[in-house]
Amino acid sequence: MSPIAASNPYIGRFAPSPSGALHFGSLIAALGSYLRARAMQGHWLLRIEDIDPPREVPGASDAILRTLEAFGLHWDGEVLYQSSRTEAYEERITRLLSAGEAYFCQCSRKQIQAAGGIYDGHCRELGLTAGAIRIRNHAAVASFEDKLMGLVQVEPGFAGEDFIIKRSDGLYAYQLAVVMDDAMSGITEIVRGCDLIEASCRQLSLFRQFGAPEPDFLHLPLACAEPGFKLSKQNRAQPVDDDDPAPALLRALTFLGQAPVDSDSPERMLAQAVSQFTLDSIPRQREILLGS
Ligand code: GLU
Ligand code: ZN
Repeated sequence: MSPIAASNPYIGRFAPSPSGALHFGSLIAALGSYLRARAMQGHWLLRIEDIDPPREVPGASDAILRTLEAFGLHWDGEVLYQSSRTEAYEERITRLLSAGEAYFCQCSRKQIQAAGGIYDGHCRELGLTAGAIRIRNHAAVASFEDKLMGLVQVEPGFAGEDFIIKRSDGLYAYQLAVVMDDAMSGITEIVRGCDLIEASCRQLSLFRQFGAPEPDFLHLPLACAEPGFKLSKQNRAQPVDDDDPAPALLRALTFLGQAPVDSDSPERMLAQAVSQFTLDSIPRQREILLGS
């Protein structure tokens, strides 16, 4: 680590999935995590979460990088592609399986739904050798203190569930990849949208089971098209315009409760936004309806 990194231990990140171009909703997560990291004089890393090929849109990774550049959201170091990490994920799974910390499960979604929606550990002692792989969860996390949203609580059943870490189709689960990568990168605080606020409990369980230091969590309000529906490609969120970043940047700053900026180049706008950034101005609401 550079001397600067050593004296400034904050490490944040933005971790988009290449399932489409950046739209206003994902810009908020990018901008919020960027402003917080820079205001803490920390590092801001970029990770492309490309381990779900069926959901990936060709060209989306490169388009995301170009958009971040056009918006002046310059990251530190190399981009980490999750697709380059599959060996590490597989090794971890193998170790968990042989230590009895994970097991194969062949229950269908239907069976689990019929049993109340929470997995009851049915396959834990069956010694199966194929199927989905579940963590034997002995570090249930039912609540945590979010840096913005305050106390977050989930149902005890959900918290203690043996959740999936590798899917039956062979894809690594988001929860496993995200925790292994955040741990490897030394992320000290995760800033992202409230759609993942409850997943944080599962992720905290994994950090504990892996004996990795736990990051802080800071969840930003979600931009919603309708109550309960975040902006997404599915509800026709338009990609942000790389050729004219200023208006979207201003809107995103306003969305995050930050004071307006008066310059016009994205770099200068961001420098000003960093210098006047206040966490306390971000609305403590899990969702904000756009156009309301
Ligand atoms: N890749 C996830 C997404 O785009 C975000 C992961 C995270 O920030 O933990 O929704
Ligand atoms: Zn099962």
